[in-house]
Amino acid sequence: MYEIGITRRFSSAHRLAHYNGKCEGLHGHNYKVEIVAYGSTLVDGMLIDFALFRQKVDEIIQAMDHVYLNEMGPFKESEPSAENIAEYIHTTISNRLGDAVHLKYVKVWESDDNWALYRTGE
Ligand SMILES: [Zn+2]
Repeated sequence: MYEIGITRRFSSAHRLAHYNGKCEGLHGHNYKVEIVAYGSTLVDGMLIDFALFRQKVDEIIQAMDHVYLNEMGPFKESEPSAENIAEYIHTTISNRLGDAVHLKYVKVWESDDNWALYRTGE
């Protein structure tokens, strides 16, 4: 089994409407996202071309950059927490990958010290 990973970054605003505390108010984060994929079949020595993988990821990430996440479609119903952001990115990218490449996990850092990870299956 092979694994590859990339990290991307975006900055956006959010508020956790149902949270009773500091994060209830409007504030922003410089998010860092780690996306790890796996598979057992290489094509021309690669699981997936890094440039292509980055392109597929960036289509999702760029739509989240410099926006108010609470007003984005997926977060109108669920809180834009790091956990839900990780799940959204995971689900959206999974749908854009071919059959030979699978996502292992998506990890979202809200700050240097706090992160949430989403993976399927376990
Ligand atoms: Zn926050």
